[in-house]
Amino acid sequence: KDELQARTKQNETALRVAAGIAHEIRNPLTSIKGFMQLMMSNQMDVQKYSEIIFSELSRIETIVNEFMLLAKPTQKTELEETDVHDIMIYVTSLFKNQIEGQDIELFQNFDPSLPQCLSDPKRLKQIFINLVKNAVEAMEDGGSLTVKSEYIQQDSSLRFTVSDTGKGIEQEKLQRIGEPFFTTKEKGTGLGVMVTNKFVESLDGQIHYESEIGKGTSVIVTLPIKPI
Ligand code: ADP
Ligand code: MG
Repeated sequence: KDELQARTKQNETALRVAAGIAHEIRNPLTSIKGFMQLMMSNQMDVQKYSEIIFSELSRIETIVNEFMLLAKPTQKTELEETDVHDIMIYVTSLFKNQIEGQDIELFQNFDPSLPQCLSDPKRLKQIFINLVKNAVEAMEDGGSLTVKSEYIQQDSSLRFTVSDTGKGIEQEKLQRIGEPFFTTKEKGTGLGVMVTNKFVESLDGQIHYESEIGKGTSVIVTLPIKPI
């Protein structure tokens, strides 16, 4: 009986998340339909309408991509030779346009003693992408982004920090980040932190947020690594 209860509860949670996704997708779909209709009746502003439709389609794409990362059962980590600094450099390069466009100064503070290691580069990359994305999005009016690595030899762990000097998170909201669909952004999905947490957990790591409103946010991730 307990088992049945647990399963029912699990199904309910899954349905709630699915309903949330459906809801999030319905909004941009409705807007795409509306703008298509306008475009069909009025050939004047095709360029303008196309841009809106494109951005709404991108939004659907983001929601579906993040959902798929979340919904995929956590497979056993596939350990591969990993160069953490390469991944950090690669990920920040993905945000080059935004970093330059928003007047963000980038600091890379790498620990030279961090060894090549066995880890899961795909998940590490996804964790970095989500953290850097949130950091950059918190600094619409510029600021500094610092990505830092540290090797803690005693217990062979990697600690990396992504810090921004952006808008920060209020104390009571800090507890809510990572809840499904919790977002403070007009175009946010509120799924990114869930994906990040899931991946950190799958690597037996820990994640910690420190934030002060108006000052910025630091996210600290600690992961065990196997040096080669
Ligand atoms: P989204 O980015 O789509 O809003 P996330 O799950 O990635 O969804 O983040 C949830 C919320 O956590 C954000 O809307 C924001 O309020 C807060 N947050 C996360 N990282 C930061 C950060 N670096 N600075 C300020 N707020 C943040
Ligand atoms: Mg995000």
